[in-house]
Amino acid sequence: MSTTTKPVEAKKFLPKRSSIHRPSSDASRFHMSKDAVDRSVEDVARMTDLQCVKHLANVRWGSFKVVGCPHCNAFDEHYWSAKELRWKCRGCGKRFSVTSNTVFAYRRLPLQKLLAALHLWASGAAGQPALELRRMLNLGGYNTAFTLVSKLREGLLRGFHTGLVSGVVEMDGAHASGRRASEKRGRPQVFRVNDPDEAQKDALLTSSARSKKRREEKAAAIAAGGVVHEHGVVHPAARRIAFTLRRRSGAKGKGALVTRVGVGLAETPDVAQALVDAYVAKPESILSTDAGTAFTKVGKEFQLHMTVNHSETLVGPNGAHVNNSEGFSARQDRSEKGIYLNIEPKYLMDYVVETAFREDHRRLPPGRQADRALHFALNIGRSHYWTNFTHGKHRDYEILRPANKPAAPSGPKKGKSPVAAENGRPPR
Ligand SMILES: [Zn+2]
Repeated sequence: MSTTTKPVEAKKFLPKRSSIHRPSSDASRFHMSKDAVDRSVEDVARMTDLQCVKHLANVRWGSFKVVGCPHCNAFDEHYWSAKELRWKCRGCGKRFSVTSNTVFAYRRLPLQKLLAALHLWASGAAGQPALELRRMLNLGGYNTAFTLVSKLREGLLRGFHTGLVSGVVEMDGAHASGRRASEKRGRPQVFRVNDPDEAQKDALLTSSARSKKRREEKAAAIAAGGVVHEHGVVHPAARRIAFTLRRRSGAKGKGALVTRVGVGLAETPDVAQALVDAYVAKPESILSTDAGTAFTKVGKEFQLHMTVNHSETLVGPNGAHVNNSEGFSARQDRSEKGIYLNIEPKYLMDYVVETAFREDHRRLPPGRQADRALHFALNIGRSHYWTNFTHGKHRDYEILRPANKPAAPSGPKKGKSPVAAENGRPPR
């Protein structure tokens, strides 16, 4: 018996091209364009020492000819020594290099490696792990890479992240830090009813039975290592809330312009108040938040306080939404869960400022982003946080709103065996 069936026409079953083609967004148009790239790591690696110094001088002072003496602050055409690659001040007579009195003072890293590291750092969308930097550039040790990017973050924290915002300002808080894995291991640490079935059962309880249930849940959360905050909120001990304040650009499809951030222990009115006082010109601004109770009181100080109830809609009437803030939180989440993996709460503020910088410079090619970050790192003076880090001198506080909190130096003790129990963590 012969089979003479017609061959099936494959074409018929292919989806139409147009149905799988997504329309390009503003972001994708930028990233696919020529404007999204400017220079490469290779370009930087090929630079001579003199070219590096000229580049850094232009980033630091805006000029290679007229530079500022870091000893006496005199701007002048100081005496340049091509042999030493340093200047001698016309005023005080002291010598200085392009990294004198900056976070990179006393560096041992060649300038080419420093610039290459910066370029790679700026090329990441949500961050760049120090471990990867070390592997890509064969930096001496992990600490070299870690302190380098940490100093860059310090530049952003003390240089970029300053000044008031005004206009339509969105504010929101998002959970950050505190390992989720421990919550999953049968230890509920967030005291809240999320499950609809549970909520229904909860609604049928008498009020005394409900409060008894709440007390028990709370006790279980505390027993699992949770910390009680204002209004009885229980969070894991390492949990923090990362707040954002974002000023909308006002132009359709252009998102937010300026971002300010802060870290608090819980989403409470005093944290919101402290942040608004620090970063917003209230009388000329409009606040847009979700219906969270933390924003009610501070909202009264604005011209207008728009709120959106997220259980009903994402955008309220008259443009009440926090979608730009949510955008920030999404990038911060990727940064924490996909890149840095385990951010120590003590340094969380440094990392959220980095995310704020990346958000605000998202439409710049990596070279210009790197130069912007470098400009701050070269203009805030010496490092306050990372000098002598490798010799055990660590920042002994956590940057928090409304007030900083003392924090013990972390990590394994010097000269001890790095077994889990010695790291202050329970063995798995
Ligand atoms: Zn001088």
